[in-house]
Amino acid sequence: MKNIKITKTEHSTLSKLDFDNIPLGKIFTDHMFICDYENGTWNNPRIIPMQTIASHPATMALHYGQAIFEGMKATLDSNGTPLLFRPNKNAARLNFSADRMGMPSFPEDLFLEGLKQLVNLDKEWIPKKKGSAMYLRPFMYADEHFIGMRAATSYKFIIICSPAGPYFSERIKLFAEKKYIRAATGGTGEAKAAGNYAAAIKPTENAKAKGYNQVLWLDAVEHKYIQEVGTMNIFFKINGKIITPFRDGNILDGITRLSVIDLLKIKGFEVIERPISIDEVKEASENGTLEEAFGTGTAIGIAYIQEIGTDEEIIHVSNNSPVGEDINNTLNGIKIGEIQDTFGWMIPVV
Ligand SMILES: *Cc1c(COP(=O)(O)O)cnc(C)c1O
Repeated sequence: MKNIKITKTEHSTLSKLDFDNIPLGKIFTDHMFICDYENGTWNNPRIIPMQTIASHPATMALHYGQAIFEGMKATLDSNGTPLLFRPNKNAARLNFSADRMGMPSFPEDLFLEGLKQLVNLDKEWIPKKKGSAMYLRPFMYADEHFIGMRAATSYKFIIICSPAGPYFSERIKLFAEKKYIRAATGGTGEAKAAGNYAAAIKPTENAKAKGYNQVLWLDAVEHKYIQEVGTMNIFFKINGKIITPFRDGNILDGITRLSVIDLLKIKGFEVIERPISIDEVKEASENGTLEEAFGTGTAIGIAYIQEIGTDEEIIHVSNNSPVGEDINNTLNGIKIGEIQDTFGWMIPVV
């Protein structure tokens, strides 16, 4: 593997950070990892002081949208060692997304090594308060200057870090979207591609204006089968069983989803991955068998769903989510080393 050259900042901004009041997504650490793709290979992996990158107006990502990303978190255990949650899954998923978007794959060992060295260098930025973490954002985009529709020949892979204060899972309201769609079979729904978010922004703003927190995406053909929520996968507990939409190529293959399925199974629940329609959820709500619903994703962990609105009516879910809360506590406990990690999920950064 290539050597990662490290240039440390001479102007740390760490002392300016108020750890009791961290504005989400607005503060970035002192350093970033960056690597350039040119002439068919990834070159010059390096860690440098956080800085802006000048863009040529013809930078292809700005015009044709070859841009993908990952989202993960570094937490601290009780000894102050940073821990990464299943980072190999993110490295693999980045390459899945890259393939779908016609982009080159990034070496997974270099992804992990770059990530570890960056987190280690900026570990003082990880907030110590329980429930906090440092959000990590690996991403790749086409940076060739060219006007024309084809795969770019040069790309950048970058990792930036942003400290995040304690997060408390709230109860959220979803709007089941029947006009706009997120993903259709054969499209890019399973890729963590920037363009998927671009198309989701307007419907999400509409939902927020109606008093909802997020959009619940339905299938593109019948607007009937549930796909996922904004940046989360979704689970329902109906009549004692856990149901989550199966991976049909239109939903994001969430690492939290995967892990929650494992945790539910060892806790003795039957987890069924299958298509589930909004009508089935409505019926379960009406006949009293809809016990819980929750969303899963790295940014929030587990979000308890209180209600789902459609243009016609409101589907009431529940005011408490004992199973969701138990899973959330277990997951959070594993992430800080308080609950034994029998799965081997956590990777220490040493
Ligand atoms: C990232 C993401 C998720 C959650 O994936 P995790 O790996 O659990 O963070 C779910 N849905 C979409 C659309 C996403 O982009």
